[in-house]
Order: sequence, then C-alpha cells, then structure tokens
Amino acid sequence: MMSLLLKNTKLFNEAGELVKKDIKIENGIIVQISDFIQPENEQIIDVDEKLVTPGFIDLHVHLREPGGEKKETIETGTMAAAKGGYTTIAAMPNTRPVPDTKDQMDWLQKRIKETAKVRVLPYASITYRELGEELTDFESLKEAGAFAFSDDGVGVQTAGMMLAAMKAAAKINMAIVAHCEDNSLINKGAVHDGVFAQNHQINGIPSVCESVQIARDVLLAEAAGCHYHVCHISTKESVRAVRDAKRAGIHVTAEVTPHHLLLCDEDIPGLDANYKMNPPLRSREDRDALIKGLLDGTIDFIATDHAPHTAEEKAWKMTEAPFGIVGLETAFPLLYTHFVQSGKITLQQLIDYLTIKPAEAFNLPYGKIEVGSVADLAVIDLENEETIDSSTFLSKGKNTPFNGWNCKGWNVLTIVNGKIAWEKESVAL
Ligand SMILES: [Zn+2]
Repeated sequence: MMSLLLKNTKLFNEAGELVKKDIKIENGIIVQISDFIQPENEQIIDVDEKLVTPGFIDLHVHLREPGGEKKETIETGTMAAAKGGYTTIAAMPNTRPVPDTKDQMDWLQKRIKETAKVRVLPYASITYRELGEELTDFESLKEAGAFAFSDDGVGVQTAGMMLAAMKAAAKINMAIVAHCEDNSLINKGAVHDGVFAQNHQINGIPSVCESVQIARDVLLAEAAGCHYHVCHISTKESVRAVRDAKRAGIHVTAEVTPHHLLLCDEDIPGLDANYKMNPPLRSREDRDALIKGLLDGTIDFIATDHAPHTAEEKAWKMTEAPFGIVGLETAFPLLYTHFVQSGKITLQQLIDYLTIKPAEAFNLPYGKIEVGSVADLAVIDLENEETIDSSTFLSKGKNTPFNGWNCKGWNVLTIVNGKIAWEKESVAL
C-alpha cells in the first residue's frame, strides 16, 4: 500500500480559517485529516506550516502535441503544470491532427497515459479539423473520454452550426466550451482596437469581435438547454452579456485569464509579441470589469490559456508573430502577489477560483481537501519571494510578458493521486 503522511500543513477549514493539520493519504485518497496523526510506516513529509491547497485546476491549456512538439509536448506542458501547482488540466484540441475522431482521441489518451505528469482531460473538437463545417461524432468522442467540446483557436462562425452543436451536447450532458471570435470583425488585428493600436498604427481587434458571439451564443444555449462555457472572457460588454444571461437562468459559465486580470493595453511597453495573445489585452475599463465580474460571480473561475510558442516565432514582428503566452508556472504567484497581497481578493477566494470553482462548473470530483477525496495537493510557500525568470520554465515556451516580475507565493510540492508529481529541489522536505 502506498501511504504518505503530510505533517504540519496549514489549510483552510470549512469555516474559512487557516488551521494546522496533518493529512494522511493511502492509495491516492485522503483518509485522515487531524490535528495530530501518529506516524506509522508512511512516507513522511513535514511541510513546516506551509499552505496546503487542493491541486489547481486549469481548464484551458495548449499542450501542442500532436503536431506542435517544437512549442510543447504533453510531457513538458504537464511538467510545467506540476511545477505551477496544477494537478488537473484540460488540453485544447487545436493540434495537428485535431482530436475529432475516436481514433485520434484514443491515440491522445494513450499518449497522455504514457507521458503526462498530471491529470489531463482532453477536449474534442466541435467540428472536424475545427473548420466549422461539420459536427464531429459527439457520442463516440464522449465514449473515448472527451472532457467537453471546443473549437478553441477559432470561433464557431454560424449560429446554425453552434445551435446544432449545443443540441448534440445537451443530449449527452456535455458542455460546449467556446472561443468567441467573429471572423468578420477581426480586422486583421494584432492587439486590442484601443490606445496601443492607435499609437503604433497597427490594426486592432474590436471588443465586439468577442462580445457579439457571446450574446448570440447565450441565446442559443437557452434554446438548446446546453451548458455553454465562455473561454478567456476579455471585454466589459462580454461580462455584461454573461451576467444578463445568468440572471435569465441560462446555463452559462465563464473563465478569465491571469493576464487579462493583470494587464491592459496601456501596459504594453512596445512592439513586443510577448504581449500578443488572443483575445488581446483590452482597455483599463475592460480589465476593471473583469475583476468586478470575477468578484460578483459572473465569471466563475481563472484559467491560464497557457499557449507556448518558440522563441523564434515570438521574435517576429508584433503583426506577424503567433498569438499566445505561457501561464502555468506563474499564475499563482502573480495572482497572489497582485490580488491577494494588495487586498483586492482574499487568499481563500484565489484558491477557490483555481480549484473548487472550475471543478463545480464542470462537475469534476477534484478541487477539495476532505477525507475521501482524491489526494491532489499543492504546497505553497507564501513567504518566498522570487523573480520570474522564463529561462527556468519547464515549459518549452518562454513567451511571457511577466519576465522579471517579483512575486511571492511559489509552489514547492505537487501531489497528484497521492504521488509526488513535482518538488522544488532546494526544499528539504
Ligand atoms: Zn481561445
């Protein structure tokens, strides 16, 4: 029997107080949480009163495999996840080939089993090759283990196709997870249609490019009776559309990225593609609306949209370089330092946005520390202050706008299914 005893943890109890507890794990399950547990013959890890949280859950990650192995693989992406404290991640299907058939999904599941360091939930695509032309076979993809359906990377362009997808998903109790972008409104933009675009005379992507599709889709979700989830929400109008839809009783959920919470287009220092992502960094007003939306429950949780690219690609001109930044290894310290330490949100709220909230939105049995729950845990050193150094990332992608930022709150140990998935070298645990 595999057993592990975590001594002297600090965790939040049901009353929301930080308490000191020992945690005993057997065969991947938490079997005891008490003030003091007498060691027997378990492996003992004394965490010295560091914070222990449920392992983080990121439902928006690009692992790039198959087809984009120069940018990332399932192995390197999940190593980055484990380092960041993530124990469950969902992999987006915009790979080559796309997981759009049972055979492709079977291949992906096998590859995950062989190489992943944390739990990976694979998305299947909504349409074949994400072309928006023909629905995939949702039932067989569900049977093959698809987590949900998404054409992330592109929006589903026609209302007819989206309604058909939602009806098919509703029938088998699955969610449609949408990258919202109307191709007729992209304007060949590289950044938000705002101050930065004007100052640098480059094309901007207007807010309506996203919000108009969300407004359409919430009505379609109502008609289809489907769980509709909005990826990486970025504009104030989008937040309003989701808020109104929730008030109307429509089953809609939404995620926001750390970078859209932390940055706006005014913060882009120059023509540096490490600030180029899709959706783009919007205006300060948009950013403030995202924070408000998160706090009032309009936005359900935080997801990174980890999108690795090669250094070569990201060195291209702002207008030419691919969209996307990495996020798994920096999300918690950035949010802890800039939202919790500055008093905008509480530590408990931040943990919830990264754990129980995404779990609840998708009925996942993870994201909590209780007797009987899966032993997915992260041990965080809240006091340790370090500077973000992209050269130390385990991800192949070093493309981040946060290089050089000082942060507190670094993960030191990640446990997935009761086994150590990653530990910081210098910590003598
Ligand atoms: Zn997307």
